[in-house]
Amino acid sequence: MPLAERLTHVQCAIADRPPQCLLAASKGVAAKTLRRAYALGLRHFGENYLQEALDKQMALSDLDGIVWHFIGRIQRNKTAALARHFDWVESVDRSLIAERLNTARAGMVAPLNVLIEVAVSAEDSKGGCAPEEVPELALAISRLSHLRLRGLMALVHPQAEQADADFRRMAELFFALQQTPVHADLDTLSMGTSADYLQALQHSATEIRLGTILFGARTQESL
Ligand SMILES: *Cc1c(COP(=O)(O)O)cnc(C)c1O
Repeated sequence: MPLAERLTHVQCAIADRPPQCLLAASKGVAAKTLRRAYALGLRHFGENYLQEALDKQMALSDLDGIVWHFIGRIQRNKTAALARHFDWVESVDRSLIAERLNTARAGMVAPLNVLIEVAVSAEDSKGGCAPEEVPELALAISRLSHLRLRGLMALVHPQAEQADADFRRMAELFFALQQTPVHADLDTLSMGTSADYLQALQHSATEIRLGTILFGARTQESL
C-alpha cells in the first residue's frame, strides 16, 4: 500500500482524537521515503541510530521545518552529537546522560527538548528509568538550563491487557508530575506505536510514534 494511503488510514483513525504530535518512527526507512512523507505533511521524524539519522538529515537538509527526535538507546559517547543534531531526545533515563546533553547543548540557540523514558513494562529491560525514579530525575533535568523537559516516553507491554495497565500508569505518572509547580508546563506524553496507538490515545498520549503502519514492515537488515 502506498504511503499516502497508509497515512490517510491513520489520520482517519485518529480524527476524533488527534495527538499534538504524530511522529514518524523512521529507522530503516530511506531518506527518499521520508521526503515523500514530508510532502504528505509529516514534519516529526524519530530515529534510533545516530549515524543513520545524520545521513538522512544531510540528504534532507533542503526541507524546512523538519523536527528530528531521537528515540533510540543513548550511548554515553554519542551524547554530544545527539545534543547538536536533534531537536528532541526522548530516551533520557539517567541524570548522567542529561548532564552530558546539557553541556553539549550550551551555545545553541534553543534548549534541547527532552523526555524521560520510563521502564513501565516489567518486560521491557531495554532501557528507561524505574517509575519510582521519575520525580527525582525530572527535578534534576529541570535544573539544567540547556534542556527543556517536556514530559515522558514509554514503550509498553505487547499484550493488550498489560499494555492497558502500563498506559494507565504512565498517565498517572505524567499527571502527578504536572501537579508539581516546577513541572506545570510539561506537555508531552509519548506512547503508542503501530500496534497500540489508539489505545495509547485513549490513555491521554499526546504523541504517538508510528513506524510499520506508515512505512511497512522493516526488513531484518534495516532494523
Ligand atoms: C521503532 C519504534 C517505534 C515504532 O514502532 P512500530 O511498531 O514500527 O510502529 C516506536 N517507538 C520506538 C522507541 C521505536 O524504536
